[in-house]
Order: sequence, then C-alpha cells, then structure tokens
Amino acid sequence: MDKLHYSRVMIKLSGEALAGDQQFGIEPAAINKFCREIAAVAKTGVQVALVIGGGNIFRGLSASAKGMDRSSADYMGMLATVMNALAVQDALEKLDCDTRVLSAIPMQAVAEPYIRRRAIRHLEKGRVVICAAGTGNPFFTTDTAAALRAMELKAEAIIKATKVDGVYDKDPMKHSDAVKFESITYIETLEKRIGVMDSTAISLAMDNNLPIIVFNLFEEGNISRVVRGEKIGTIVHG
Ligand code: UDP
Repeated sequence: MDKLHYSRVMIKLSGEALAGDQQFGIEPAAINKFCREIAAVAKTGVQVALVIGGGNIFRGLSASAKGMDRSSADYMGMLATVMNALAVQDALEKLDCDTRVLSAIPMQAVAEPYIRRRAIRHLEKGRVVICAAGTGNPFFTTDTAAALRAMELKAEAIIKATKVDGVYDKDPMKHSDAVKFESITYIETLEKRIGVMDSTAISLAMDNNLPIIVFNLFEEGNISRVVRGEKIGTIVHG
C-alpha cells in the first residue's frame, strides 16, 4: 500500500457537491459518488472529519440581501448543513463506513452535540466525524467552521473539495486564459482577493500554519490522491 501522507484530515465539502445536476437540494446519486471515495479513504486508516456546507439549500447572506434578518437567515443556513450532514451520514453508513454527526447547535434527537474530545475519540476509533451546523454562530461560513474544527481536531490539512481543479488567478469557468497556481501563500490569496475560502477561514489557517489543498472533487480518485500526498490541485500555505 502507498505510504499515507496524512493521518488525519478535514475535508470541506460545499453544499453544491450534494446537489448534482439539479444545482439545488440533495441528489442521492451525487452524494454516493464522493461518499464511496471517502469510505475507501477511511478504510485505509486515515482519520476523516468532514464539514459540509449548506449552499445547496439555503444561504444566509442571499436571504439577508432580500430583506431577512441576517442572524435568523444564518441560523437557517446552519440548519441546512444539518440536513446535508444527515444525507452524507446515510450514504456513508450504507457503504459500511462508521460515522457520527456532531452538531454545533445541540439537536439531540438527530445528532450528538459537538464536543471536541468526543470528536477526537470518534476519529481514533475510525469513525468519520461529520461536523454539522458550521461554527454554531451567525456571520460565519462553513469554510471558517472547517478551519476551526481542523485546528481543534488537530487535522494535518484542510482538503477543500471544489468543482475546479485548483486555485486560478481568475474564474476558469468564465475566462479561458485563467492560470492555475500549483501553490500559493495565504497572504497572496488575501491580497489578490482570490476566492479560495473566505478571509476569516484563510486567516485562521494562516495563523496556525494549516495547509489548505484545493482540488476537483468530481474527478474520480482525487480524494485518495490528496490524502496520499500526490501533488494535485493547489496547495495554500505559509
Ligand atoms: N452559516 C453560519 N455560520 C456558520 C456556518 C454557516 O451562519 O458557522 C450559515 C450561513 O448562512 C451560510 C450557510 O450557513 O450561508 C451555509 O453555509 P455555507 O454558505 O458556508 O455553505 P457552502 O457555500 O459551503 O455550501
């Protein structure tokens, strides 16, 4: 077996990864695809924590732009991430992968509360830990939740799954001459306002020297490639 590069990782999945072609809501076939890869990685002994976004269902910022109170809208966004977490849990468990959903907003009928020591214990026992409800606070994002939980749980890297194969100087979906970076520093992404993750998440990662690897989720085998330390996508570092 290849030598594993990382032994504990935080994978950040945007809500849109769950939506499939519909671009909205939850498409079980789309979830199954990446869950097979996550389950395979977990079976090799890599400890996996997940933070899942909610943008496929509800985004606080968009709703507040249309007049909703921002905090209320953000709490709705966090609830959306819980729905996504349950969908991913279901898919992983069907693949015989042990999981626990830990929610930052206590919701005891559906998930355990997020308790750092408990999360670490689950990871040590080989369970995939799905961190739901973001940070539990409005005005944050699930990118920031991923950076925060990665640090708390002592993950060695944040693996940010996207629909493009790395970080570009401009949006590769809109510009055919966009250039991909193999690596980029935290500061550069902030200065050039390259939307890898929001600035709070980048600052947290920077202050704690936590590498972020941005890669294409939709190319089969990529999750295990990243975990094995293969150079794919873009690494954001100090
Ligand atoms: N959210 C929040 N606090 C958090 C994490 C998320 O208020 O700590 C809310 C926020 O409204 C956000 C929504 O949950 O718009 C969904 O999360 P996000 O936009 O990060 O999801 P993604 O874009 O990754 O799908």
